[in-house]
Amino acid sequence: MTLSHRAQRLEPSATLAAAAKAKKLKTEGFDILNLTLGEPDYMTPETIRKAAIKSIESGEASFYTPAAGIIELRQAVIERIRLDYGLSYDITEVAVTDGAKFALYALFQAIINAGDEVIIPTPYWVSYGEQVKLAEGKPVFVTATHEAKFKVTVDQLEKARTAQTKALILTSPSNPTGAIYSPDELEKIGNWAVSHNILIIADDIYGKLVYNGHTFTPMATISEAIRKQTVIINGVSKSYAMTGWRIGYVLGDEAIIQAIIKIASQSTSNCSAVSQYAALEALRGDQSCVEEMRQAFEQRLNVIYPKVSALPGVVLDKPEGAFYLFPNVAETMRLCGYTAIDQFVDDLLTEAQVAVVSGAGFGAPEHIRLSYASDLETLQQAIARLEEFIAIKQ
Ligand code: PLP
Repeated sequence: MTLSHRAQRLEPSATLAAAAKAKKLKTEGFDILNLTLGEPDYMTPETIRKAAIKSIESGEASFYTPAAGIIELRQAVIERIRLDYGLSYDITEVAVTDGAKFALYALFQAIINAGDEVIIPTPYWVSYGEQVKLAEGKPVFVTATHEAKFKVTVDQLEKARTAQTKALILTSPSNPTGAIYSPDELEKIGNWAVSHNILIIADDIYGKLVYNGHTFTPMATISEAIRKQTVIINGVSKSYAMTGWRIGYVLGDEAIIQAIIKIASQSTSNCSAVSQYAALEALRGDQSCVEEMRQAFEQRLNVIYPKVSALPGVVLDKPEGAFYLFPNVAETMRLCGYTAIDQFVDDLLTEAQVAVVSGAGFGAPEHIRLSYASDLETLQQAIARLEEFIAIKQ
C-alpha cells in the first residue's frame, strides 16, 4: 500500500523524535541526561489531580462532552482571559481542544485553502510549518536574526507579503528563543496585519513563563482592531505542568471558532473528559502553583545561562521567557571539527550522553535547543558533560 503524498511529505516532530531516541537509549541502560522535551519536570499540582479523580468517581468523566468542551471549562477559559488579559469573549468565541497543538492544526484546516500562505517567523516551533502544509498551505519563513533579538519587523513581513498571505504566526515568548515582543513591536505588527486583513495567530502558550522582570503583553490586548484580527492559542500544558492531559484552547472570531469545533466534531469528537475536569480546576483554582513553577524555572535559567554561554564558541543571549536555551553553536562545532549539526547532536547523545534537539527542526541549523525544564542537578551535570565533550574534541 502506498502512503498518501500528504503522509509522505510530512516530517515527524523533531522534538518528539529526539526525545524518543533519548528515551530508547535510556531504556537500554545508558545514563542519558534528557534536555529535549518542552515539558515541566513537575507533577501536575495535587488539587488538579484530585479534581480529575473526583470527576472519575462521580461519573462525570464517563461521557462524551460537547465537541467545543464542557461549558464550565469554556466559561473558565473566558474568565481567565478576562482576568489575565482584561478582554471579554462570548461563549461562541472559545473552543477547548486536544492540546494547543490540535487547536493550531484545526485552525489551519479551518482557514487555509490550497496555496494560501502563512508567514512563520524563524526560528519557529517545529509543528507550524508541517501543520500548514497538511492543510495544503504554504509556509513562508521570515528569519528573525540574532541581531534583531530573534524578532521580525514590519519591513520584513511586508517583503514576505503576497496576495496569498492569509495569516501570521506570532509566538511570544518564543519557543525556541525565549524572545518576547514589546507592546510597541506588537502594535506595529498588529496594525500591519489589520491593514492587510492578515489573521494573527498569537501562540501565547508561554505567556506565564517570563523571567527576571520581563513582562508578557498579549497581542490581542493592543487594540480592539487587533483583537478582532487575532486568534489566541493557549493551553494548560506548560503553565500548570499538564502536558500529558492534552488540553488547549482557542479564542477568536466566532466563524473561525465554530469551524474549528466542526472539525473537532468530525475528528476527535471531544478532548478527554477527565482532562477537561482537571483543566477546569487548573484555570479556576488557586494560581500559586503557576508562580512557584515560574520562580523555579527562573532560578534554573539564572544558574545555567552563565555556564552555557561560557562554553567555547557558544553565542547566546539570555532568554526572557519560555524554558529553553537556543545557543548558536556554529563556532563550537567548528572548534570540535563538525560541519553538520545533526552529527554534532548525535555525538552529544551517544558520546556525552546529553540529549538536545538540533536547531534544524526549528529552521536554525546552527543552533541547538536545550530545555531547562529539568531539575538543577541534571542541568548542571549535563553542562559539565558538554564542557568535557568540547574539551576532548577540540
Ligand atoms: N505552541 C508552542 C510554541 C509549543 O512549544 C507547544 C508545545 O511544545 C505547543 C504549542 C503545544 O502545546 P500543547 O499541545 O501541549 O498544548
